Amino acid sequence: MTVTAQVGRNSTVFEELESNVRGYCRSWPTVFETASGAWLRDENGKDYLDFFAGAGALNYGHNNPVLKKALIDYLAGDGITHGLDMSTVAKRGLLETLRDTVFAPRGLEYKVQFPGPTGANAVEAALKLARKVTGRQGILNFTNAFHGMSLGALSVTGNAAKRAGAGVPLVHVTPMPYDGYLDDADNLCWMRRALDDSGSGLDKPAAVIVETVQGEGGVNVARVEWLQQLADLCAARGIMLIVDDVQMGCGRTGPFFSFELAGITPDIVTLSKSIGGYGLPMALVLFKPELDRWAPGEHNGTFRGNNPAFVTARVALEHYWSDGTLEAATLTKGRRIGRALSDLSTGVPGIATRGRGLVQGVVFEDASQAGKVCQLAFDRGLLVETSGADGEVVKLLPPLTITDEEIDHGLVILSGAVGAICAG
Ligand code: PMP
Repeated sequence: MTVTAQVGRNSTVFEELESNVRGYCRSWPTVFETASGAWLRDENGKDYLDFFAGAGALNYGHNNPVLKKALIDYLAGDGITHGLDMSTVAKRGLLETLRDTVFAPRGLEYKVQFPGPTGANAVEAALKLARKVTGRQGILNFTNAFHGMSLGALSVTGNAAKRAGAGVPLVHVTPMPYDGYLDDADNLCWMRRALDDSGSGLDKPAAVIVETVQGEGGVNVARVEWLQQLADLCAARGIMLIVDDVQMGCGRTGPFFSFELAGITPDIVTLSKSIGGYGLPMALVLFKPELDRWAPGEHNGTFRGNNPAFVTARVALEHYWSDGTLEAATLTKGRRIGRALSDLSTGVPGIATRGRGLVQGVVFEDASQAGKVCQLAFDRGLLVETSGADGEVVKLLPPLTITDEEIDHGLVILSGAVGAICAG
């Protein structure tokens, strides 16, 4: 008997029982059952091409066969599933692989912290550590930033509706203009001035937290020179630079870390989403060794030891990051999408495009059109979501393992949807 046969093919239980807080199921009103690579199938047998990739948690695709085999073998061998922060064979394998495959070739000497398994938890840990190390309280964040839903992560997030959900004041944070927010030549003028002017009213902060590309905030791409200036500005003033690579890390923009392009070394880095490889929950905080001022157990959590995720994370690193093949392929595929989108935007008034690697956005002057395009794309078999403060950007985030044929198939659906919505 299949799972669907047991529960019956209707959606009433979701409406009856599941909280109103549910979101993606409203954009994509069907009941999904299986998935493979860049495809999901619903219980009626309809296939959907995935330009969403679990919000960036599925860079290697759904049920990636290499990772699945490692996971099944591990489970079949009674490997540890839940390990808190006990030392395990699976964790040792992951740490050694991280050191040898990711850190050593890049000349990085980070210490590794396993926080709770979400991006928000990694961000909380990063903020706490920066405050502890510096003894300062304030954090600078950026307009349109997104860092998660827990109170600390929300305090450095821009979106007003999400912030309103906190129910308490979100304090000790000052927003700064992200690259391009004011005008392209701003080059951190206001931040530099405010930090250096004793009359500005800005107390010296513990840290700056930044995304190199703002995924949720509307595919806003920071220029390399802006990131370099930001890193220099922080270093010169003893301010911790936290790069939140939860969504843009693990190869999304090409290189393993999104900040590599700028040649900078953040003091603290957060990773989650695709680091587990298979979509299993896992997060990491990486920081320079001299910042490791945690007392034992000072930031703990029951689910820091998702050992099956350690196994799939290790195999993903071994399989995809031992050489530059995936990085090169991501950049090539990103250019393929970028070209197609720029052709599209030339032909349709009121839209523009931007992106880096395999995160690409179509920006609509009329924000309502972006949501309508996503709805029509869904009807035609493509999962793609909006981002940006007003949902004005259609964000393309396919698995990095997607094929050229699949990309073209998705782009045909997307262009058709854009044409239909913008013409009507
Ligand atoms: N940081 C960034 C940059 C993110 O994109 C997200 C999730 N979209 C988070 C943090 C929060 O991750 P999580 O939802 O796993 O808490």
